[in-house]
Amino acid sequence: MNVPFLDLRAQYDLIRDEIARAVQSVMENTAFAGGPFVEKFEEEFAAYCGGCRYAVGVGSGTEALWLALLAIGVGPGDEVITAPNSFIATAEAISYCGAKPVFVDIDEKTYTMDPRLLEAAISERTKAIVPVHLFGQSADMDPIVALGRKYGIPIIEDAAQAHGAKYKGRRVGSLGVAGCFSFYPGKNLGAYGEAGAVTTNDGSIAEAVRLLRDHGQASKHNHTMVGWNARMDGIQAAVLSVKLKRIDEWNSVRRQKAEKYRQGLSGVEGIMLPTAADYAEHVYHIYAIRVGNRDDLIRYLAERGIQCAVHYPVPIHLQPAYESLQLAQNEFPIAEKCAAEYVSLPLYAELTDDEVAYVCRNIKEWCGQASAVMSGT
Ligand SMILES: *Cc1c(COP(=O)(O)O)cnc(C)c1O
Repeated sequence: MNVPFLDLRAQYDLIRDEIARAVQSVMENTAFAGGPFVEKFEEEFAAYCGGCRYAVGVGSGTEALWLALLAIGVGPGDEVITAPNSFIATAEAISYCGAKPVFVDIDEKTYTMDPRLLEAAISERTKAIVPVHLFGQSADMDPIVALGRKYGIPIIEDAAQAHGAKYKGRRVGSLGVAGCFSFYPGKNLGAYGEAGAVTTNDGSIAEAVRLLRDHGQASKHNHTMVGWNARMDGIQAAVLSVKLKRIDEWNSVRRQKAEKYRQGLSGVEGIMLPTAADYAEHVYHIYAIRVGNRDDLIRYLAERGIQCAVHYPVPIHLQPAYESLQLAQNEFPIAEKCAAEYVSLPLYAELTDDEVAYVCRNIKEWCGQASAVMSGT
């Protein structure tokens, strides 16, 4: 049996006619950059994210983070606190504002920023806090928001992996001053190319992001600030409008598949399964287990047609790109330990129960062999 890590084709096959009509309609209207399809999707997505007042479409999740940080005034000399176990874009966006990323280690169960360690990282220079809703689970927002309030520091959510996820019943993207989303094709809500969005209830942030994404152009040929070209494509917006209607259903099937994995793998010696916190409605963008001898498991499964991935093997503070921060090994021990052990299993709405069972069976077989080797039998 072949189980790919991701199967975008299977999803496309289910919606191809509607996608074709949507894309054709963009072409008939020649609404390619920005325009009515983007505005329509912005309205729909804002409503989806807990009734946020605004969503502003941009070119990628990285741009969403960058422009949201610029919009709240992050600049050179500032510090922005985030987690070290994210995709590197979270830190890059901070760096591209001229600010310095400051990391806080993660909670060993939820893999998101540990709020107990946050206060110690706050300094006079801290201009924003960016918790990452990693793998589809919201960070523990109440204590983070409370600290933000105590020190007057805005919270910007990196929700790139968590479309539709909830924290205590509230949707991510509506929990801080702004939420940043990616619609990279492999995300839970994926475009057919690159796209992103910033959600917010703050009209001045929405307006600033709108200006920044369009060369600071307040009205035709009137540039009131130095901006950038970070607009969303009409075709991406039209595709996203089609897929947004189905995201809750797809997320709920993802949760069912995750439950199948949990049933199939619980009690298996030597592997740790993901934890859904009491406060969270997890949307399982990534189903990451943890295991000691990771490379061996990945190889074993690959030989049996099962494709896994690792998100992410090297934490951001240990990447060569961030050498200048001079953060040593062991600086964030939990993030480093998890990074060495994560294995992401295939998980998407189109994955069949048979495929989940096949993956579980092979993981169990591998665990059995590994423990036999250890006990010398
Ligand atoms: C995907 C991702 C991003 C970046 O989004 P792009 O659309 O690829 O630019 C940022 N943060 C996290 C946590 C991500 O997973």
